[in-house]
Amino acid sequence: DVADSKDAMTIVAISRQLPWLTKMFKALASDQDLPIDEVLRKMKPYNSWKKAPLLLPLGPEKGNSYLVIGTFGSWVTSKLKGKDLFISKYRKLFNL
Ligand SMILES: Cc1cc2nc3c(=O)[nH]c(=O)nc-3n(C[C@H](O)[C@H](O)[C@H](O)COP(=O)(O)OP(=O)(O)OC[C@H]3O[C@@H](n4cnc5c(N)ncnc54)[C@H](O)[C@@H]3O)c2cc1C
Repeated sequence: DVADSKDAMTIVAISRQLPWLTKMFKALASDQDLPIDEVLRKMKPYNSWKKAPLLLPLGPEKGNSYLVIGTFGSWVTSKLKGKDLFISKYRKLFNL
C-alpha cells in the first residue's frame, strides 16, 4: 500500500504487483555494473489494474464477486472465498 501504485489498496493487487517487482529486482541483480536509475529506465513502468477483481462474501454462502470478465453471485463467491476465507489455502502454504 505504501508504494501507492495507483492500484486499489487490496491484497489481490499484490498478485499483479509481485511479478513486476520480481522482474525489477532480478534486473537490478543482473545489471550490477549499471547505475540503478539506468536499469530502472530500461524497464517497463508498472501499469495499475484498470478494473481489479473483488470478492465480497456475506457469510459462508452469500456474496458477490467481480472477476474482470463479469460479475458473479453467491455460488461463485462462496466457492472462491466465502466458505473458508482462504484459511485452508494459507494453512497449506504454511505447511500446517
Ligand atoms: C479493515 C481492513 C479490511 C481489509 N479488507 C480487505 C479485503 O477484504 N480484501 C483485500 O484484498 N484487502 C483488504 N484490505 C487491504 C489490505 O489489507 C491491504 O491492502 C494490504 O494488507 C496491504 O499490504 P502491505 O504489505 O502493503 O501492507 P501491510 O499489510 O499493512 O504490511 C505492512 C507491515 O509493515 C509493518 N510495519 C509498519 N511499520 C514498521 C516499522 N517501522 N518497522 C517494521 N515493520 C513495520 C506493519 O506492522 C505491517 O505488518 C483491508 C484493510 C483493512 C484495514
